[in-house]
Amino acid sequence: MDVIRVLAVSKEKCLDPRFRAEFIHKDAAVVDLHNDTIGRFIEGEDLRQDLPKGHIDIPKLKRGGVDLAVFACFSGPPADELEKGRAANKIFGQIEALRRLVEQNPGDLEIVRGAADFSRLRNSGKAGVLIGIESGYAIENDLDVLRAFSRAGVRLMTLTHWTHSDWADASGDATAERCGLTGFGEQVVREMNKLGMIIDVSHAHDETFWDVLRVSSAPVVASHSCCRAICDHHRNLTDDMLRALAKNEGLIGINFSSGFLSAEYQKKEQEFWGEIAGKLGLPADYDAAMKADPEATKKADAEFEARLPSFRKSLPLVDVRAVVDHIDHVVKVTGDADHVGLGSDFDGISDPPAGLEDAGRLAAVTAELLRRGYTESDIRKILGGNFLRVFQAVEKAAKS
Ligand SMILES: [Zn+2]
Repeated sequence: MDVIRVLAVSKEKCLDPRFRAEFIHKDAAVVDLHNDTIGRFIEGEDLRQDLPKGHIDIPKLKRGGVDLAVFACFSGPPADELEKGRAANKIFGQIEALRRLVEQNPGDLEIVRGAADFSRLRNSGKAGVLIGIESGYAIENDLDVLRAFSRAGVRLMTLTHWTHSDWADASGDATAERCGLTGFGEQVVREMNKLGMIIDVSHAHDETFWDVLRVSSAPVVASHSCCRAICDHHRNLTDDMLRALAKNEGLIGINFSSGFLSAEYQKKEQEFWGEIAGKLGLPADYDAAMKADPEATKKADAEFEARLPSFRKSLPLVDVRAVVDHIDHVVKVTGDADHVGLGSDFDGISDPPAGLEDAGRLAAVTAELLRRGYTESDIRKILGGNFLRVFQAVEKAAKS
């Protein structure tokens, strides 16, 4: 590999830009900070196959040069007390499934428990699997459950999902009734610092974001969000938040959902969803619909998903340039390329940009960065170097 690298670097000016992008991409450590793929494996999909549907499977991870992917075990806002008490169990089941997936593919996948594992895996031909949890409902308001997750190999937790937990407000909440983190929420953050678990503020309410940054002694990430200055959505971060994240030495992973990337796309997509919701007697606002009738909202979602492919033809084109626009914005606002990465949200979104339809096409991001004049060193940071730095800093803070 080193010989090839020396040759490529010395000849780089002669290389066709397409090959140069491909070379940098394959050689760099590529990290995707968020996917929802484990649900597909649990439903019986064979991820060893290059499947026609879905965003991630083993052949696509290889084709996309992915060295590390955060696989999120998902526990959403519980519908009732019974579900609330089953959240941890649900997550342990998904962790077990993730381990099964890795054990069945020992030549292709390996669980990453620390930054050193990740460094060792580089150039092994395997993709690292980092176990994440989305979201904090999973700990059932009990720090011992959080500690048990850490022992089970969980290295990242997204604090909330669409709506609040008992201890943290979410970005989908109209008002921050808990004023961000409660006292227990602050204990969760401190315990995650102690455990060396990466704190993820994607989905967090702005108030929660600011509380986390005040309390955390380690860098934090927003694993799958975009920039609010470009696309005004509560899931995206304001410029002040981006600057604070940079000051904290943290990182934002840019989400590939066209609805979070493009304001115009989002508006049209929302109008389309509102039309479907209206027919089912639901309010046009998604969060209000979810609160009013979760079952009917799921029905509206299913119809939306089914009709989206044909509706997309009438939507504005969102392609890889939109992802790089958000990367550019973070770089501009924070002053360097040290605080941005990729957080595709693959298998959790229905609207990835054209040309970035699955993990196998991630090199398109590298090609676009190169086309815009990014240096090779900055591209390597964005693709994965920044995440590795954060991972190491979180581990170091845990030991101190
Ligand atoms: Zn999410």
